[in-house]
Amino acid sequence: MTKKELLEEGKALRKENWERLKAEGIDLIPSNDFSLYDQVLDMTLAVGAIPTRYNILQSDKLELYFAMARGEQKDGKDVIAMEMTKWFDTNYHYIVPEFTKEQTFTLFDTKAVDEYKEAAELGIQTMPVLIGPVSYLLLGKEKEEGFNRLELLDRLLPVYIQLLQQLEEAGAHWVQIDEPFLVLDLDNDAKEAYSKAYEALRQHTRLELMIATYFEGLRDNTELAAKLPVDALHIDLVRCPQQLDNVLNQLPAGKSLSIGVVDGRNIWKNDLTASLDFIRRVVERLGAERVFVAGSSSFLHVPYDLELETKEDTSLAPIKKWLAFAWQKVDELTLLKDLLSDAPSAESLRKLAANKADIADKQVSPLIHNATVAKRTSKVTEADTRRHTSFEARRTAQQEVLHLPLFPTTTIGSFPQTKEVRAWRSKFKKGEITAEEYDKLLKEETERCVHWQEQADIDVLVHGEFERNDMVEYFGEQLDGFAFTQNGWVQSYGSRCVKPPVIFGDVSRPHPMTVGWSTFAQSLTSRPMKGMLTGPVTILEWSFVRNDQPRSVTCQQIALAVRDEVCDLEKAGIKIIQIDEPAIREGLPLRHCDWEEYMEWAVRCFCISSSGVKDETQIHTHMCYSEFNDIIEHIARMDADVITIECSRSQMELLNVFRDFRYPNEIGPGVYDIHSARVPDIEEILQLLHKAVRYIRPEYLWVNPDCGLKTRGWDETEKALIKMVLAAHKMRKDYSQ
Ligand code: GLN
Ligand code: ZN
Repeated sequence: MTKKELLEEGKALRKENWERLKAEGIDLIPSNDFSLYDQVLDMTLAVGAIPTRYNILQSDKLELYFAMARGEQKDGKDVIAMEMTKWFDTNYHYIVPEFTKEQTFTLFDTKAVDEYKEAAELGIQTMPVLIGPVSYLLLGKEKEEGFNRLELLDRLLPVYIQLLQQLEEAGAHWVQIDEPFLVLDLDNDAKEAYSKAYEALRQHTRLELMIATYFEGLRDNTELAAKLPVDALHIDLVRCPQQLDNVLNQLPAGKSLSIGVVDGRNIWKNDLTASLDFIRRVVERLGAERVFVAGSSSFLHVPYDLELETKEDTSLAPIKKWLAFAWQKVDELTLLKDLLSDAPSAESLRKLAANKADIADKQVSPLIHNATVAKRTSKVTEADTRRHTSFEARRTAQQEVLHLPLFPTTTIGSFPQTKEVRAWRSKFKKGEITAEEYDKLLKEETERCVHWQEQADIDVLVHGEFERNDMVEYFGEQLDGFAFTQNGWVQSYGSRCVKPPVIFGDVSRPHPMTVGWSTFAQSLTSRPMKGMLTGPVTILEWSFVRNDQPRSVTCQQIALAVRDEVCDLEKAGIKIIQIDEPAIREGLPLRHCDWEEYMEWAVRCFCISSSGVKDETQIHTHMCYSEFNDIIEHIARMDADVITIECSRSQMELLNVFRDFRYPNEIGPGVYDIHSARVPDIEEILQLLHKAVRYIRPEYLWVNPDCGLKTRGWDETEKALIKMVLAAHKMRKDYSQ
């Protein structure tokens, strides 16, 4: 696609969406919510906060933009991308602004104004959406010591003012300014920054400003947020309905309230009757003219359109009547609007009745409610949530069975998912090869992989996970209570999307899920073969979760299903079982004071899944790509016999935490970064291992890469693992003398 085609495609999409929103009857139609990569990066470009390494690219704005997003290596240019990180508690990733002490800002790009005008030319009045100045600064990172990024506010505000003035001149009435940080814990500096920023903006524009908050309640920031000198405040009443009274009490006379009642984070149909009650309560207090009805957050985080789920014999078909994707949510909003009017149409009343029936049906449907699961969940006892003996006792029992050497080597699970492997899967899905043929190919690949590991002299082997498309989907497809969409994509970053499963009902495991593959792989070798499972918290985190019971209850149901699998693997002779929990940190609530409660049930669920085994069965877990320092004590409470954990990108920075906290069980801090094709030197690996033994007892240290190898090619994987094994051997020799 050429640059011109890309831009035209974008324009056509915006037109289509605006026109559809207008036809649907949405009053405040957003603009500047379209992005070629990411909205935070758009803002970075708008305010000209362009890191100097991109100076050579300034002549072509689009090239500059994509170089900032993805790095660029061509025509003698070689610049790395800006960092990317998760957007609050979503799976969307934004490009992190970089600030220096002498950072200056200029109005470098006017996309917000241009898109406003573009819509205006189509005869559509829109409400431009901007990320607010305080959130923008807080989203970024200081790239030098000696200053706090909030100190840059004075330099940033004039650019925002300029931007708002241009929007005003272009004819805008309303502007939405997103300040999601208002739902987080704020220190005094941040609070002062808020007051200062909005007083300044207020003085310089006559635009109607709406501050949008989402993903949590305002809690102790309610007064601050309510009193900011703007015309309207948006709050998320799906995540935090209990905040309403407090907000109503604090809201100054004359200010409007936008209430987010349609869930922007999940895919369930709105309970319109409940929403109507809610809205009427607000209208009674404020008067209809002061109330906006809205989605709780942007609909970026839900799939696009349920109408695209057209197949009839799918797991989704029976539950479609309970779902609403982005466009259905727009319908819900306009329906609510009509139902609140003096004379709702007959059609709207009919839809309301149908909605009532669907919601009632969902409450009792046997598709969702499984009495056996409910009974089992209620019978979980304390004894089901921990191993029977201490780690030390288990360690001795495990050593007797496993006879592992000092510094045992292993990998995290997956081996390269080559083009061939993916081609087999797609052919099998399309019916071009039979199940037998597919199975045979996978078995051959597994066999090659196991033999290669033996040759490389790895101590604890894995089967390679060739049969798995995705570490959550693979399990979800085999569990009751899960459904899958055809086109339910949500953006993760750039053009990367994920298609999360939908957990709609009580979860149970009708049959073993991995025992066949694990026992097959174990039959190929006399070395221990690790069973590989995805943990309950990760399965929960990476799915759309039912909203009719607490997440902790759903998680516990998954935990019991995983527990059964763990026990079946043990029965089948598998001596080491790894339960991956890479997403455990992602589930942390946005407010610190809620962390404890979450970690409590998350750890408990992991323990339920892992504690049904005998002492001599070794349980591993794996975590990656997030900060674990501040939750390390909880991780220790998971009591896995071994944890393999990402470390190498941060040069084992993570290990510092073990200086103050003695991690009780065995650890394999990743010794090389699998996210790059680079093959590490033995020396580098040794250096990391030497660093590690300063904090971890040598007998407790494992040697492994820092994540699964599925995205790598075989060539670099072989080379890297051979180096890793040699490094472990060297350590072994040095330490056994
Ligand atoms: N066992 C999985 C793999 O190796 C773990 C993946 C992950 O941590 N994200 O692919
Ligand atoms: Zn990982």
